[in-house]
Amino acid sequence: MPDVHVPRRRRLAAVLADLDVQAALVTTLVNVRYLTGFTGSNAALLLPADGAAVLATDGRYITQSAAECPDLERVIDREVAAALTRRAVAGGFTRLAFEAQDVTVEAHEALTRLADGAELVPLGRAVEALRRVKDDGEIELLRQACAISVQALHDVLPQVAVGRTERAVARELETRMLDLGAEALAFETIVASGENSAVPHHQPTDRPIARGDLLKIDFGARVDGYHADCTRTFVVGAEPTDWQRDLHALVAAAQQAGREALAPGRDTREVDAAARTVITDAGHGEHFTHGLGHGVGLEIHEAPLMGYAPAGRLDLCTPVTVEPGVYLPGRGGVRIEDTLVVRDGAPELLTTTTRDLLVL
Ligand code: ZN
Ligand code: ZN
Repeated sequence: MPDVHVPRRRRLAAVLADLDVQAALVTTLVNVRYLTGFTGSNAALLLPADGAAVLATDGRYITQSAAECPDLERVIDREVAAALTRRAVAGGFTRLAFEAQDVTVEAHEALTRLADGAELVPLGRAVEALRRVKDDGEIELLRQACAISVQALHDVLPQVAVGRTERAVARELETRMLDLGAEALAFETIVASGENSAVPHHQPTDRPIARGDLLKIDFGARVDGYHADCTRTFVVGAEPTDWQRDLHALVAAAQQAGREALAPGRDTREVDAAARTVITDAGHGEHFTHGLGHGVGLEIHEAPLMGYAPAGRLDLCTPVTVEPGVYLPGRGGVRIEDTLVVRDGAPELLTTTTRDLLVL
């Protein structure tokens, strides 16, 4: 299998040439993983604009780093950023890019001392920008993570009933995702019943689900580092009331408008507006209290963000969520969320399970 990390490092090296730096010190762990395949918990990468990259990690990962990155030179040192800065200075580099979003003020002071006169310049979110467009292998992992997630939901829904607690439903869903092959959960599962469904990021409690409750479940599996993200909203134990049906239909219409707005080259603010307008026109603008969605990949929330700064344009092969919600404090809320991939023509839906307002 060709190593996907070599072309990724080559693309970053091209960015470095534009920045007129001789190397980048990559310290954001997920970016190191993206560029090397190394999955340990302490690492940094020195990537010259011209020349071979060097991975630093500590003594716990000697074996793992050799297995995951057999072609990379490795430095074993607990202080990974310091070790690579010394290495850069020894190599005669005089301008070094660093990830300002990751390096603390304290760490920057230490690196400046070690840099010994070499200039430290911000790299910006160059690696995050590369990560927006996924290759086929990454999309396949997201596809698997989403398939596990929706299968687990399907398996667990028959057990959801009046009297079960939010926490019990969350634990069952999580166990099922792990049993189906998830390496971990993508994030802490949200199970929110009744008035709790009006809290966008409610944490499951011991509240028993009551007859006629809205039940909002936001969940996802992680496969080989890649995160699924899906939300569905149900009614438990009774046919939905008019307000519940209307609220669900409104959010479904907004979500459809958002999905249909996904296209390569589209401004993320336009996509957000396509869904938000539906909700605002219905008089619920103030009850849609978050952005429309976010990129997903090695992180559960990553670029591009839709409805949050910074704005930008969607690229082909970029996975994003579309997740409008309307939350009525003290009553209940509805969110519908899918993970999709931006394609020419219609986006590819990865969370393939019904969005209908099911009665459980
Ligand atoms: Zn979610
Ligand atoms: Zn999400």
